[in-house]
Amino acid sequence: MKDIIFDNKDKMAMLGLGTWKSDRGLVYNAVRRAIEVGYRHIDCAAVYGNEAEIGEAFADAFSAGDVKREELWVTSKLWNTAHKKNAVVPALQKTLSDLRLDYVDLYLMHWPIAMKEGAGFPSKASDFYTLEEVPLEETWEAMLDTKERNLIRHIGVSNFNSSNLEVLGRLAFPEMNQVEMHPFLPQQKLVDYCKAKGINMTAYSPLGSMDRPARIKADNEPLLLEQPVIEKIAEAHDATPAQVLISWSMHRGIAVIPKSTNEKRIGENLEAAKLQLSDQELEHINGIQSGHRFIDGSIWVNNGSPYSYEDLWEGQS
Ligand code: NAP
Repeated sequence: MKDIIFDNKDKMAMLGLGTWKSDRGLVYNAVRRAIEVGYRHIDCAAVYGNEAEIGEAFADAFSAGDVKREELWVTSKLWNTAHKKNAVVPALQKTLSDLRLDYVDLYLMHWPIAMKEGAGFPSKASDFYTLEEVPLEETWEAMLDTKERNLIRHIGVSNFNSSNLEVLGRLAFPEMNQVEMHPFLPQQKLVDYCKAKGINMTAYSPLGSMDRPARIKADNEPLLLEQPVIEKIAEAHDATPAQVLISWSMHRGIAVIPKSTNEKRIGENLEAAKLQLSDQELEHINGIQSGHRFIDGSIWVNNGSPYSYEDLWEGQS
């Protein structure tokens, strides 16, 4: 398995297991099986609502001897309602307690969006803080403090564009930026910017976030997994379309975190690490770029929000 190597030489397995929408009742088994078959990187977040069950799976995997804590890379994320400086440590402590860990390997600011404590998904202007009220630097400074306290090993962000990264860079550039990336949305400009600043990247929704079918149908977009070019290359390698998509990310040197709660697909996705694609195949895959986002951020810009699409995506694709 290839690794992402951080400045201090810590290694994060390039292929991890996503856990968003991994329902309670299913996620325990998904994480145990993933660890058994060889995953060493699990992507979590407080807002996924399943960290307590994942914590149970970690505890049981450690006590069964399936893996040692230091062999497992665990990422979690600070939710938008905990951006004020005094809210960061309590939010992280809740995650650590749910995951039954003393530290996480990587802690990310989930979105560059600040919301009021207790707000659910936003429905009105008063659910938000503006960036004047709670600047990104305030949250970032508090996150940097948690690193000093050894509660986290590495620190990063998610869904950040280059302007927002520049703002944080006045204090310290993040070590990771986790964003949506797949052949429809390769984000090459952002990849080049992050590379220049020494920021590692992780691709989320690499398979097209299939378990959100209403959104995909409404946009009338063809499924990423059913694109003819992906299917053809899969067939040529006796592989599956999902394996081709995962391998495409790894060939770009970008970490990738496909989600599955299905034992067969969890194993299938890990096997993608062995797939070698030719330069010509990679070029054909690049040809399906359309700029389509499965996670378009509309939830953060509607209902009287002070944030705009421009704030989020800067017109980048
Ligand atoms: P995804 O990984 O692109 O797609 C997951 C969907 O693909 C599920 O329906 C899954 O179903 C299916 N699937 C998995 N393996 C498959 C295979 N081999 N063949 C066919 N279908 C397969 O979507 P995602 O969950 O949006 O993204 C992955 C992870 O990225 C998330 O779980 C989360 O950890 C992270 N993420 C982060 C953010 C952020 O804001 N930072 C946003 C989105 C996602 P089964 O479970 O039934 O296999």
